[in-house]
Amino acid sequence: MGYYLGVDVGSLTTKLALIDRSGELVYADCRRNDGGPIEAVQKIFAGAKIDCYPVAAAGTTGSGRHLAAVIIGADTVVNEITAHALAARTVEPAVQTVIDIGGQDSKIIYLKNGVSVGFNMNTVCAAGTGSFLDHQAARLGLPVEELGHYALRSTSPVAIAGRCGVFAESDLIHKQQLGYRKEDLIAGLCLALAKNYITNVARSRKVEPVVLFQGGVAANVGMRWALEKLLNVKLQVPPHYQVMGALGAALLARSRHRDGKIRETRCRGAREVAGADFQVKGFICRDCANCCELSELYADGVLAGRWGSRCGKWADLERRQPERVQEKTRAFT
Ligand code: ADP
Repeated sequence: MGYYLGVDVGSLTTKLALIDRSGELVYADCRRNDGGPIEAVQKIFAGAKIDCYPVAAAGTTGSGRHLAAVIIGADTVVNEITAHALAARTVEPAVQTVIDIGGQDSKIIYLKNGVSVGFNMNTVCAAGTGSFLDHQAARLGLPVEELGHYALRSTSPVAIAGRCGVFAESDLIHKQQLGYRKEDLIAGLCLALAKNYITNVARSRKVEPVVLFQGGVAANVGMRWALEKLLNVKLQVPPHYQVMGALGAALLARSRHRDGKIRETRCRGAREVAGADFQVKGFICRDCANCCELSELYADGVLAGRWGSRCGKWADLERRQPERVQEKTRAFT
């Protein structure tokens, strides 16, 4: 009996999903990247007691997918859009729209008959992201987990300018100073962020049901309410809304294993992952005008992974040893 592992390293949290051969989720976890993503991956991996689940194939996704792939020894690396779409259509085959709002980005994916037909991702505007909500909750003296419940108690939401994070925050502070109730301020904030999402991410394109709302912000009932109100559509929040990316990575690993594209997993054991000393170093390649910023991951002092180059010439770890990389850095900086 083999299991499939998916790890999703986001800007704020790291998620892990383990599925069995039938695709059933047997274990899921989500942890904040407080000590950095390397430590988060090591801890979440240790917590999964992976040695009890013989892994047949493993995949990673998220903004830290390359880093995570090297740490755990993943067999496949997948972008967030593919991972989220795959998980969404597996959980709900009739899904036509996926709204995903995470810590520092938000996205929308459109599907027709289970196939992705378009997407849009916003990584630029802070308004409408989880970290912006976290920050506003802290400013209002509330845990983010309670923010949404305040919004639902509002009787008269305050108009907040949500065009961008800076405007939203200064308008919120201004309205707060005018003495409006917390409930009405928070409801106004949720509506402003939902409007921002509809304008900048969904770009006012029609949102067709079934709509799945996933990512950490799906836990925020105020954001659910605001999006439903402005989109005039019911949102479904899948039971494992926060680990959908990890679930997608595990599902992709399963399908590649089934297709014979992954024969023997490279996934490491729990002790190997927990015991290794991982260090990241960076340098800028100035061989051409792209000036790519490369990151290198060393496991116990040995170069284990490198990413960030556009032309691909740094992909071969054997060709360029760390000493030469350092020489190059010195020579060109
Ligand atoms: P990423 O994948 O980008 O690291 P997540 O998808 O895990 O981020 O989303 C993190 C965000 O989710 C947090 O910033 C927070 O605003 C929100 N969040 C997570 N759990 C809750 C909760 N229980 N209630 C309200 N908001 C939550």
